[in-house]
Amino acid sequence: MKIGIDLGGSHIAVGIVEDGKLRYKVEEDLNKESNLLEKMKELITRTLIENQGTREEIEKVGIACPGTISNGNIIKAGNLKLYHFPLVEELKKEFANTEITLRNDGKCAALAEKYYGSLKKAKDCIFINFGTGIGGAVFLEGKLLEPKKYSGFEIGHMVIEKGGRQCTCGKKGCFETYGSIRALKQEVKKELHIEKDITGKELLNIMLEENENLDKVMQEYIENLAIGIGNLIDIFEPEIISIGGSFSYYDELLIPKLTTKIQEKNMTFNEENLPEIVTAELQNDAGILGAIL
Ligand SMILES: [Zn+2]
Repeated sequence: MKIGIDLGGSHIAVGIVEDGKLRYKVEEDLNKESNLLEKMKELITRTLIENQGTREEIEKVGIACPGTISNGNIIKAGNLKLYHFPLVEELKKEFANTEITLRNDGKCAALAEKYYGSLKKAKDCIFINFGTGIGGAVFLEGKLLEPKKYSGFEIGHMVIEKGGRQCTCGKKGCFETYGSIRALKQEVKKELHIEKDITGKELLNIMLEENENLDKVMQEYIENLAIGIGNLIDIFEPEIISIGGSFSYYDELLIPKLTTKIQEKNMTFNEENLPEIVTAELQNDAGILGAIL
């Protein structure tokens, strides 16, 4: 039995993967009081019980986690408020004989899309994950680019505005403080004076309504997305860019706007042969599927 775990800024999902397919999945929200490690153990145990499995039957546990990862340690995951946390070592105390791997979530989702989804046919391509933050990965000649020491490709932390919004990483003006779904939600709420939390579905309904005030917010959001993605196009010259994460929820609305914006004059260095921008196919299961890869 192979168990994939996807850690998000606000949720945790645990699933059983068989032949590249998700056979079972259990998901829970995380809040400020959640003990991540305990929650993870609890969900693995629940997965075993509900599937009549035993600990001995687990061949592998793969974990996808946002932030900087190195050798089984979470070095820095700002959105989870975890720093220098030996996650694999801690889990090993409970699952001593199981192979446990930990990798950046953007890379995991990208691998899943490359093996099974929207990037199967492309050699040079980029996957970008939009959610609480922004993660991603780049493939050139079909190979995942990986720096030696940390996760690298911190797409969400490339600065697009000098002295801009404060990011959880400590820097100011990072792409994810403008382009993440969290940032979009915050801006929409601010503009419409909404104080309560809104769900993804509520955000989508709000964006679909005609509202002049919101037009400005949307234009600005799309422009910031285009600046960040334009930088990546100029550097890597991808054939396809696949966008996943909770962005997929709004893709029919946002991808045409984004594509049009990127095609505008002076948005990219080489304005010809722009990549196709598509929605990730594996949606929210990509993290779990990729964690096993
Ligand atoms: Zn940052």
